[in-house]
Amino acid sequence: MGVYEKFFQYHRIDQSILLAKFAHFFCMSIKRKVKAVERVFKSLDEEINRLKAKTGLHCLTGCGMCCTKPDIEASPLEFLPLAFEWFQNGQAMEKLEFLQQNYSPICVSYAPLSLIDQTSGSCGTYLNRGLICRLFGYGATRDKNGELKLVTCKLIKEDQPGGYATAHQLIHQKEYIPVFSDYYKKLFQIDFKLANQVYPINKAIQVALEEILHYYAYRPFSPIKKTG
Ligand code: SF4
Repeated sequence: MGVYEKFFQYHRIDQSILLAKFAHFFCMSIKRKVKAVERVFKSLDEEINRLKAKTGLHCLTGCGMCCTKPDIEASPLEFLPLAFEWFQNGQAMEKLEFLQQNYSPICVSYAPLSLIDQTSGSCGTYLNRGLICRLFGYGATRDKNGELKLVTCKLIKEDQPGGYATAHQLIHQKEYIPVFSDYYKKLFQIDFKLANQVYPINKAIQVALEEILHYYAYRPFSPIKKTG
C-alpha cells in the first residue's frame, strides 16, 4: 500500500469523495475566473459610464471602425466569458472550427452592416467583448513621462473635441479615469498565464475557447446562472 493510500486509510478519508471534491473545486475554478473577469468588466463599465457622463464622449452611431482594425491584440483571459458563453450554449465546437479555418484578421465577432461598407457595424457579442474593446476610446495610458493620455480614436477626437478636452482636464485635476495598465493588472491577478499572453484578437478568442473545451473535456459542467 502506498503512502497516500495509508494516509487516506489512517484518517478514514474516502479517496473517491476527496477526488470528487477536488474535481468540483477545479470545475468551479474556471467559473470563478469567468465571474471574476465579469466583475472586472462590470466595475470598468461603471467607471466608463461616469467618464461618459462627465465628458459627453461617445462612439459615433453605427460606427464599427475600431473593430475592423486588422492588428487588434488581446489576451485569452479577456475572452473567457465569451468562450464560456459559447460553451454553455453548445456553440463552442462550431466556433472553434470556424476560428481554425478563418484567415481574416478582423475580429470574428464583428458584424458589419453591409459587405460594401465594412466600417459600419457592431459587435455581435457586445456583452462579452474583451477588455481592449471596452477600454479603447475611454481608457488612458501613461506616456514616457508618466503622464496619462486618453486613448481614443481619430473620429471621436474630431467629432467631440470639447469632450476630449474635458477628459484631459479631468486627468490634470487628478480625477480617476480608467487606465489600461490598472485593468490588465486586475486580469493578471485572476489568471496570470491567460492574461499575460498577447495574441491577435481571433487567436486570443480561439485560445480562450480551447481553454474552456480542454477544461471540461474531463470535468462535469454546470452552467452559470445569469442574474439581473
Ligand atoms: S469583440 Fe466585439 S468590440 Fe471587440 S473587436 Fe470584436 S467585434 Fe469589436
